[in-house]
Amino acid sequence: MGGVIEFTTKDTKQCMKCGEVKSLDAFNADKRGKYGQKSVCKDCERKYRQENKERIAERMRKYRKENKERIAERSRGYYEENKERIREYHEENKERIAGRKRKYNQENKERIAEYMRKYHEENKDRRNGYSRKYAKENPEASRRAHRKRRALIRNLPHQPLTPQQYEILHRQKHEIFGGIVSGN
Ligand SMILES: [Zn+2]
Repeated sequence: MGGVIEFTTKDTKQCMKCGEVKSLDAFNADKRGKYGQKSVCKDCERKYRQENKERIAERMRKYRKENKERIAERSRGYYEENKERIREYHEENKERIAGRKRKYNQENKERIAEYMRKYHEENKDRRNGYSRKYAKENPEASRRAHRKRRALIRNLPHQPLTPQQYEILHRQKHEIFGGIVSGN
C-alpha cells in the first residue's frame, strides 16, 4: 500500500502536491479528474496561482489574442444552448447575484470609475456617429433600449451598476434621450 488511493475515501482525499489529507470540499471539482475532483487541493492551487501570477496572466492574454474568434464563437454557442438554464439560474439567484454585484462594485469603485472614464474617452466617436444613425434606422430597437434604460433608472437606488449597465445608461443618455439621467 502507499500513494494516494488509500487516503481517498468517501469524505477525504490526499493532495498530490502538499500530501495532506483533506476533506473533499478542500478540492475543486474537475470533470476530467478520476474522482470528479482535482488532485491538488485548493490551497495549493491558490499558492501556485499567486506564485505564477505574471506567467499565467501572460499565457491567458496570449491565448485570448490567438483564439479571439473561437472564444467568441464558443461563448455564443454556449449561451444559445443554455439560454433557458441561464435565465432560470438568474431568476433563482437574483438576490445572491445582486448582493455579489453590489459587493464587487463597492470594492472596485475606483477601478470601475477609471474604466468608465477611459471607455467613454475611447468610444466618443463611435457613440456620436454610429449609434445615432442606428437609433434612427431602428426605432423599435431604440424603444426597447429606452424601456430597458427606464427600468435601470428605476432600480438605481437598490442596485449598483455593472459596467455594462453603466454603458447602457451613459450611451443612451448621450445619444437618444439627451440628459435625462444627468444628476444621477
Ligand atoms: Zn495541497
